[in-house]
Amino acid sequence: MHQSMLEQALTRLEDAARHLQLDQDVLEKLKYPRETTKTRLMIRMDDGSRKSFMAWRCRYDDTRGPTKGGIRFHPDSTMDEVETLAFWMTFKCAVMNLPYGGGKGAVQVDPHLLSKAELERLSRAYMQAFAQIIGPERDIPAPDVYTNAMIMGWMADEYSSIVGKVSPAVITGKPIALGGSLGRDDATARGGFYLLRHLEEQLGVGPGSTVAIQGFGNAGTHMARLLADVGYKIVAVSDSKGAIHARDGLDAAALIEAKRTGSVTKLADGGAVRVIDADALIGVECDLLVPAALEDLIHEGNADTVKARVVIELANGPVTPEADEILGRKGVIILPDILANAGGVTVSYFEWVQNRQGYYWSVGEIHERLKVSMESEGAAIWELARQRGISVRAAAYVHALGRLSDAIEAHGTQQFFTS
Ligand code: GLU
Repeated sequence: MHQSMLEQALTRLEDAARHLQLDQDVLEKLKYPRETTKTRLMIRMDDGSRKSFMAWRCRYDDTRGPTKGGIRFHPDSTMDEVETLAFWMTFKCAVMNLPYGGGKGAVQVDPHLLSKAELERLSRAYMQAFAQIIGPERDIPAPDVYTNAMIMGWMADEYSSIVGKVSPAVITGKPIALGGSLGRDDATARGGFYLLRHLEEQLGVGPGSTVAIQGFGNAGTHMARLLADVGYKIVAVSDSKGAIHARDGLDAAALIEAKRTGSVTKLADGGAVRVIDADALIGVECDLLVPAALEDLIHEGNADTVKARVVIELANGPVTPEADEILGRKGVIILPDILANAGGVTVSYFEWVQNRQGYYWSVGEIHERLKVSMESEGAAIWELARQRGISVRAAAYVHALGRLSDAIEAHGTQQFFTS
């Protein structure tokens, strides 16, 4: 039977629930998105025509605070995907103990086909359409796939005009000059990097280990730089145009420059650096595999080809539940998305706090706070996995679910109302 993406994701919740004594109320509350708003955004194109694009915003659960999560611009986005991503945000914020629930938004569009002015109109139209459900105490968007700081700046500006006051805390990941936080740009990769470094001994990786990175957007690019700086060897990289492989390692600065001016595949020289099939990247001989693009990369059909010992999920949902089982049997350790890529939303939280205080922190302070959070939540989850003999993913869900259920049960459970 064909399962929706959200149904698939919920299997992780059901799994975790088995490890806790949970009131039925808790599962009932977390099984469904609280609200999903759908609209068609109409914009004027540069040639004078009108064009419309489907758009959504999902507020999955707000038990622990206002909903939080990015907005994605992608041609393949669907409502099911948005709700699933919002479900993951709910758990991600709970994993990190941020005072937020989970949300997500998307526009079904290929932003590369729009001019800069069309992109600005579309971003402003999104905020106009959803301003009623968004707000600094209600629902706080941020960047996601194919959206960036400039887009966040346009949206913040639009929101401020709608409500008639400057309101930077409505959205995070803004340009620094418009109230963005230092350190937000590389926060997703940096959080994963701090986590990995903290667990190197347990994972059996470290400087000198070989790495393959799938996806070379914000997360993949920064991860390449951070890992290369401490001596990891990047042997394969892919972007939306293709993949390259070099047994002796690739230079991170050259990769970043090649991507900035087109694609990492420009580095292929027909000798030591060769183009490989994009699908072959996950089967490359390496110690560490870093999925840093979209969902469902590693599935039932290709999980067996993975040679890495450790997978660190900088993307959301890159490993399906079936692939999880296959990789588990092979002894591959997965540092799961809701922990490994939580650095982004953690520094978003710092940005929101700074906006509300009107007082801004140094980049050193941001890095230190991020490091402390990644290490302490990471160590707690690692220990839970070890004690219970469960996967790190299952432990991350149990860890988050404990916090979510405490909040849900604090309003009273079935047992409370019937005793
Ligand atoms: N889009 C990012 C994520 O999936 C960041 C969300 C945020 O900063 O609110 O975690």
